Amino acid sequence: MKARLEYRRYRLPFRAPVRTAHGTWREREGLLVRTVDLSGRVGFGEVAPIPWFGTETLEEAEECLGRLGGMLPHDWDDVVPERLGCVRCALASAVGGAGVPADAGRLPAAALLPAGRSALEAVGRVAGAGYTVFKWKVGVERPEDEWGILDDLLSRLPDAAQMRLDANGAWSSRQAGRWLDRCAERPVEFVEQPVSPEDPDALAGLARDYPTPIALDESVSGLASLNHWLDRGWPGVFVVKPSLSGTPSEVLAALEARRADAVFSTAFETRIGRKAALGVAFRYAGPRRRAVGFGTGSFLRDSRFDAPPAGPFIEAGDIGSLQEEAETWNALS
Ligand code: MG
Repeated sequence: MKARLEYRRYRLPFRAPVRTAHGTWREREGLLVRTVDLSGRVGFGEVAPIPWFGTETLEEAEECLGRLGGMLPHDWDDVVPERLGCVRCALASAVGGAGVPADAGRLPAAALLPAGRSALEAVGRVAGAGYTVFKWKVGVERPEDEWGILDDLLSRLPDAAQMRLDANGAWSSRQAGRWLDRCAERPVEFVEQPVSPEDPDALAGLARDYPTPIALDESVSGLASLNHWLDRGWPGVFVVKPSLSGTPSEVLAALEARRADAVFSTAFETRIGRKAALGVAFRYAGPRRRAVGFGTGSFLRDSRFDAPPAGPFIEAGDIGSLQEEAETWNALS
């Protein structure tokens, strides 16, 4: 046995519903895990699946943890299938203790704007806080309406600021082409998952035909699909949500081997999962450092679980202590 293992389920309402092309998301469900190894070292991890994103379901994750019977075996890495990327991330984070040294510096962060017209009111406020990278969810309302809002949003950006668009796979390849035509030579950093992961040829065609970089997100929700696109030589950006992607050391090794252009992003975890995910972001030395997508701060209504409010930079020293993780765990007892 490598460690004793416990897990607890949570269900936590968001402060404000998260609107995406897949509908409105009101609460976060997941599992926290706690391990105690033979030397008495305590570790925490979080299973934060997003099934519509292509991960395992919460039930599959819970069943897998239940089968382990309270003990994490030495060969857990062989026992927990690669398909259960969220479980693998949680267990590796708990027993790996891969924290970030407090002197690791800081990462620039992108600000997530609300979908639709609400973005217009938010962008000025967020720019005033010092952000220079913004992200806006598209494919939520009619394209003609969103195009008008995009024009207004871009005109309100501070100098040298950039906008990321995220369609969550909502567009047809033809719609995506019309959007990418509008984005050319404008301050659009990249367009995330313009079409469904089920149409890989359309993604490859858009990356070839338009100057705005395309970022894969839903297409690379697990280590297997990430490796597939790395092997295929994808020319654009990879959005990596460490909570969904599997064992962090394996994810980092895959990205490093190809010097992938990666953006690290939240899966709307509690502060336990967020700490582990930011640990991956801090450890990756890629070809360029893009702003991480961890929002402007708090998502969850219950402050015992929530990440601290973040500014335009996330400092390594601010990503959470073991003591805070223990408090979060105890809040579920
Ligand atoms: Mg995305």
